[in-house]
Amino acid sequence: MIGRHIAYFDRSLKLLEGEVAPPPPGAVVARVTMAGVCGTDAHRLAGEVKGPDEPISLGHESVGVLVELGEGVTADFAGSPICVGDRIAWLPGGGCHRCHACVTLQNENICENIRWPVVSTLPNGAGYRDYATLLDGDIFYRVGDDTPDEAVVALGCALPTALGLMERLGRIAPGQSIVVQGSGPVGLSATLLAAQSSASKVILIGTGEDRLAWGATFGATHIIDIESTTPEQRLAEVLELTDGLGADIVLEGTGFIDAFTEGIAMLAKHGRYVIAGLYAGDKTVPFNPVLLNNRNLEIIGSYFGRASHRREALAIVAKLHKDVNLSAMVTHRFPLDKTEEAINLMASGQAVKVVVVP
Ligand SMILES: [Zn+2]
Ligand SMILES: [Zn+2]
Repeated sequence: MIGRHIAYFDRSLKLLEGEVAPPPPGAVVARVTMAGVCGTDAHRLAGEVKGPDEPISLGHESVGVLVELGEGVTADFAGSPICVGDRIAWLPGGGCHRCHACVTLQNENICENIRWPVVSTLPNGAGYRDYATLLDGDIFYRVGDDTPDEAVVALGCALPTALGLMERLGRIAPGQSIVVQGSGPVGLSATLLAAQSSASKVILIGTGEDRLAWGATFGATHIIDIESTTPEQRLAEVLELTDGLGADIVLEGTGFIDAFTEGIAMLAKHGRYVIAGLYAGDKTVPFNPVLLNNRNLEIIGSYFGRASHRREALAIVAKLHKDVNLSAMVTHRFPLDKTEEAINLMASGQAVKVVVVP
């Protein structure tokens, strides 16, 4: 079996072709039917993520059909029985399950030995390829036949990221106010989850008519467009919406450093700020920690979500897509040989969700 795959090196992408090896024991091979484009890919192409030292594979929001099971594989990562022909969704890579992060913290995403990114010439579970090989320990789950690929990929890695964020945040008390910064997939996913909590207000700050409309669909009670407001106006609006107190919770899902200063200024006393979008880059901002002390503020970092969050995300999508046409979030499709265009479009913020269909 011959398959094509995208190799990334030195800020450019190449389309290569090669033999797809049969899966080793414990592994599976899936034909990729759709791969979501994530903002992370754009950050990588822009050189904001360190490395790699050799060509690697990209694409980490994938859906596909199982074509071959390695010896001993009878179930997905959560124990659901699987066979050839079943649809699965997966995250490439996996933790080592033998380190402090994996075992004690139960968070394989911050495992120091995580198998991601991966060398492009070796069989791997990246999405920008015809056939993905999920090695023993890679996290994949069966997808119900009534959940379309588009719905699975619509919120991609963003929904597990937002689930991780909510876990790091902890309890949302009834009546609390939440500001979500960012109307990309992470901000929209955070809006969706915040709106399902007992918060009284969910104020989405973002841009893009379509993206903001999805924010309203997902339950934002108020929307502030950054294109038509200044930072001062946004702060004034949040204060007005919160009786002059500020927001109890601000969730950052933008990836832009300026959001940090703006978000902290919006916090009420005892406010909590969660950083989920700012995960790469070396820009800094001046910050006076006295504010944390005087106003009893908390700043919480949240890197992605755990393996269980991916499963929870699929469960949310399986239910939600029956009420909301999640598939319509996929606004642009590209073939495998146009992956670079797909990533550039996602980076431009002009699309809601871009996918690659190999
Ligand atoms: Zn991602
Ligand atoms: Zn580990």
